[in-house]
Amino acid sequence: MAATRVIMLGPPGAGKGTQAQRLCKEAGLAHMSTGDMLRAAVAAGTPVGLKAKSYMDGGKLVPDEVVIGVLVEAIDKALKNNAKGFVLDGFPRTLPQAEALKTNLAQRNLPIEQVILVNTPDKVVQDRLAARRSCSDPKCGAVYNLTSKPPKKADTCDICGKPIVLRNDDKPETVLVRQQTYWRDTAPLIQYYKQAGLLVEVDGSGSMDDIAVAIKATVAKGGSSSCGCCGCR
Ligand code: AMP
Repeated sequence: MAATRVIMLGPPGAGKGTQAQRLCKEAGLAHMSTGDMLRAAVAAGTPVGLKAKSYMDGGKLVPDEVVIGVLVEAIDKALKNNAKGFVLDGFPRTLPQAEALKTNLAQRNLPIEQVILVNTPDKVVQDRLAARRSCSDPKCGAVYNLTSKPPKKADTCDICGKPIVLRNDDKPETVLVRQQTYWRDTAPLIQYYKQAGLLVEVDGSGSMDDIAVAIKATVAKGGSSSCGCCGCR
């Protein structure tokens, strides 16, 4: 049976956001990006945004207690709106976040069904992020790539007409910090979800269309590609 509660796992720049958006549109699921939520909070100058900004600009992780609160609130909102399910993009990023998620979803009797690891080499990520441009209006949030998906008019968002910019945390020096953070704090989740029997891996180095096809097939099949105990499947 198709998975409806999915985590998109992978390094920054793996294309998790783009893929989560596409999947949600096709499958009618709610897209939950903690990065988008935090950027909106920063833009609105909320207490959460004020706490998060310096961490985000430096490519560091926002403290667990801040981001867990934001995510749980968003899940409850989606459930109230009768979402059929959700795709988590950029959460969890640490083991304590994964544990908090497990507890919160168990209380709602809605456990995660599948964790998709979009496996992408560091060099591919660096090249992609150097070419990535984002709409300067966080309410729009459109994302471009100067090589593979340029805007129709230079430096301008196709959707809302505002300037598109290189995000502070997509600057090459900050990308290196984000990659180190990923390997130190987030990569242990690969083993965590493998052991839970939830992990499925797709190759993230191809085109966004190729990755989307692989993800769609994976979600349609549901479950994991390994049993988590002996790799018998
Ligand atoms: P993203 O758009 O997912 O790459 O997130 C952008 C930035 O937001 C990250 O570099 C972190 O500073 C922060 N952030 C997003 N999600 C999380 C999370 N789950 N835990 C901690 N920080 C996060």
